[in-house]
Amino acid sequence: MADRHDLVIIGGGPGGYAAALYAAAAGLDVAMVESRQVGGTCLHRGCIPAKALLETATVRRTLASAADFGFTVEEPTLDFGVSQDRSTGVIDKLHKGLSGLLGSRKVRIVAGTGVLAGPGKVAVSGGDDGDVELEGDAVILAAGSVPRTIPGFDVDGSLVLTSDEITRGKDLPASAVVIGGGAIGCEFASALADLGVEVTILEALPKILPGLDADVAKIVERSFKKRGITIHTGVQVTGHTPGGAGTTVEFGDGQSVEVEKVVVSVGRRPLSDSLGLDGSGVELDERGFVKVDERCRTTLDGVWAVGDVIPTAQLAHVAFAEAIVAVRDLLGEDPLPVEYTKVPWCIYCHPEVAFAGLSEDAAKEAGYDVVTVKHRFGGNGRALIIGEAEGLVKIIAEKQEDGTGGRILGVHMVGPWVTEQLGQGYLAVNWEATVDDVAQYLQPHPSLSENFGEAVMTLTGRGLHG
Ligand code: FAD
Repeated sequence: MADRHDLVIIGGGPGGYAAALYAAAAGLDVAMVESRQVGGTCLHRGCIPAKALLETATVRRTLASAADFGFTVEEPTLDFGVSQDRSTGVIDKLHKGLSGLLGSRKVRIVAGTGVLAGPGKVAVSGGDDGDVELEGDAVILAAGSVPRTIPGFDVDGSLVLTSDEITRGKDLPASAVVIGGGAIGCEFASALADLGVEVTILEALPKILPGLDADVAKIVERSFKKRGITIHTGVQVTGHTPGGAGTTVEFGDGQSVEVEKVVVSVGRRPLSDSLGLDGSGVELDERGFVKVDERCRTTLDGVWAVGDVIPTAQLAHVAFAEAIVAVRDLLGEDPLPVEYTKVPWCIYCHPEVAFAGLSEDAAKEAGYDVVTVKHRFGGNGRALIIGEAEGLVKIIAEKQEDGTGGRILGVHMVGPWVTEQLGQGYLAVNWEATVDDVAQYLQPHPSLSENFGEAVMTLTGRGLHG
């Protein structure tokens, strides 16, 4: 006999657990199947450990600038094991909190691998709970993703690593190649370089961080180069030859680099093959993502899919939003779909990057007549006080007849703590606010967010400092 629930979820990462918490808060009886640990990639192998590593790098940079504030400190040495134990402590605390929250909402966690065994049916096996048959009025697939690999670079966890291994490693190499200059690759490159590792980025596309506004990308690239990161763009890696204390990575037109470790960061593949979907009626696209409509409904009635397993932005907060859309849809509440072109993006490398909405190029390509403004942190009091004046806020707005800015189309930031400053820009873009709407509101002084306020005021044609 199968155990019946209102909702059965496969996968306990951000997509799965957000769906479970939201559905339980709405009064549904929920079971969630997880083959590893609730929290998923984000908590155990992604967002949290990667940001903890970046924070260690921040502390190292702060120590390096201590003399500017009048402190004499000895050349710091790093016990990387201690830093990684700290990261594990943060993960354990969050994991305990999440498990407690799911328990308090009476979400049943079933340990094992779940497969779709027919409409509304999920068969679980291979975990501590043994073989379990579940039935749900609704099923949500939230199996997430795993790192992609490339031919010739077998991931062995010691010489060739992905984000899965590097976030849990206990030692730092002297040198590393990061294959892939996307957001995750650049976060690792930035942290490793600040911790004294000699880093080379190899990127196949013409520039690192593709998709970023060009002015923002330029500042990150300049900072990376200043901090000793070697960047080769427009190059393909062709293989590597282990030897000595590491390996020689071959790339481009006969070029090579000798390093201790290789970090492969070439994107993530959906874990749809773990779900037993062959012949189920749930269709996949050509890249293996589960096909969904704008309400996250799959091609099989009663089955939704959310998070990294569907072909949308692979971000934890996007998975949260999709989970809410799916649950509201199965409750018959007519939810608004996620507006993927306006979600917030944050990259936690140094300098940090944060944006929402269209870049200048994308706005022009979309046919908008635009006006833009750039305000640099170099003129911002708080940025100078904290000693981090590199970066800018750029706003892209529709151009009005008098040349001033109308509706705000995009807010792009690079610099100190911009990942914590994006909120106002995100709201402005999503509320379809005009520069006049936003310019009337105050920013605290002295604060980094004054830079956003100043940029908006400048677009009204009456800036104070710009
Ligand atoms: P996952 O988190 O992958 O969770 C899926 C879960 O399902 C896993 O726990 C898995 O064990 C389980 N599962 C899979 N198949 C089955 C099955 N058949 N049965 C039972 N269980 C199953 N995003 C951000 O928003 N901000 C960031 O700063 C950020 N940083 C990142 C840094 C790194 C290094 C990486 C790798 C990712 C980062 N991400 C970030 C992306 C983020 O981690 C993912 O978008 C998010 O985890 C996706 O959530 P999900 O629930 O779809 O999948």
